[in-house]
Amino acid sequence: YKGVCIMRKFEKSSKLDNVCYDIRGPVMDEANRMVAEGVNVLKLNIGNPAPHGLMAPDEVVRDMAYNLRDTEGYSDSKGLFSARKAIMQYCQLKNIPNVGIDDIYTGNGVSELITMSMQGLLDSGDEILVPMPDYPLWTASVNLAGGTAVHYLCDEQSNWYPDIEDIKKKITSRTKGIVVINPNNPTGALYPKEVLEQIVQVARENELILFADEIYDRLVMDDKEHVALASLAPDLFTISFNGLSKSHRVAGYRVGWMCLCGNKSNVKGYIEGLNLLSSMRLCSNVPAQSIVQTCLGGYQSADELLLPGGRIYDQREYIYKALCDIPGISVVKPEAAFYIFPKLDKEKFNITNDEQFALDLLRDKHILVTCGTGFNWKDPDHFRIVYLPNMEILKEATAKLADFLSYYHQ
Ligand code: PLP
Repeated sequence: YKGVCIMRKFEKSSKLDNVCYDIRGPVMDEANRMVAEGVNVLKLNIGNPAPHGLMAPDEVVRDMAYNLRDTEGYSDSKGLFSARKAIMQYCQLKNIPNVGIDDIYTGNGVSELITMSMQGLLDSGDEILVPMPDYPLWTASVNLAGGTAVHYLCDEQSNWYPDIEDIKKKITSRTKGIVVINPNNPTGALYPKEVLEQIVQVARENELILFADEIYDRLVMDDKEHVALASLAPDLFTISFNGLSKSHRVAGYRVGWMCLCGNKSNVKGYIEGLNLLSSMRLCSNVPAQSIVQTCLGGYQSADELLLPGGRIYDQREYIYKALCDIPGISVVKPEAAFYIFPKLDKEKFNITNDEQFALDLLRDKHILVTCGTGFNWKDPDHFRIVYLPNMEILKEATAKLADFLSYYHQ
């Protein structure tokens, strides 16, 4: 209006001061800008199967379409009975103890439930042990909820397994829980039972809640078996997280769940908080809940991708070998999921800023990766590749990467 000078400025909330999610951060913004200008960017950055031709099984899509009319309304805030029943049976198959229908909450992806589980628990100064490297939503959610994420080391020298001594060192009187991401994003590691048992023992001795993010539990290779963390801890309280985004390639449908497992005798207040938060968001996407039963029952559609001759397996073999052949890169072979987390020789390339490394690679070779510090890794010497893109793209990307590293110096 005439004569009125608008001076008021709106800043982001200070709650967001320590919150980062760099998988979709500045490097991806730059890639999007380049794509808008017509550049063909090789995207090795997001764990989203469908755009790479890894499509959901037809039966799943048909069931969702079939159920659309019946799923127009809100569901119970925790989810449809049929979905939760199937999840309950899945828990039984995985020896996850003491999960009844009311212990299961469906969510708009595991993402929503990760933030909910932290919002419902943490007060200022409370600490949660989070792996380093981590899937960064965990660190972000702890910080957003007012807590402090304390990072424990996953050790590259030991196949990226959690370093139990480091976990012990980082426990304080404010530690409320420990997050275990297994199989792991970004390393692709699968933890053996003995390592999980040691984590459980530390939680037992220090009265910690276990948060088990197991969204990749059906994406395991080399005849290995995934052991559910909660199955080793019937005397403790575990929240176990899982979903369909990856195993059934329906990341866009947004469907995941969390299960309250094991001993609930001392978490009544926390559960009340979770129920309140679950009610406040009314319910998760109901059409997507309607496919849980189909997806978890019977034939597991990811299996053939993970065996020799299957795309994920073959692409893992290829990317591992191609990276090993590049001077200045070393890498641990992943056993699950579809990520690999190579190490750069810091001295050789003189890298002091890995975001800059990712930007330089993007601008120079049009390859988009995510830098290691985006996963809260401590040093600027790693990056993550998602090896879902098809073999031709992986071949082109690794050849360009090898060429880039033959002259790169920061
Ligand atoms: N947890 C881990 C370890 C992930 O890698 C992801 C997605 O990449 C998620 C949770 C979130 O998955 P969604 O929200 O699609 O269920």
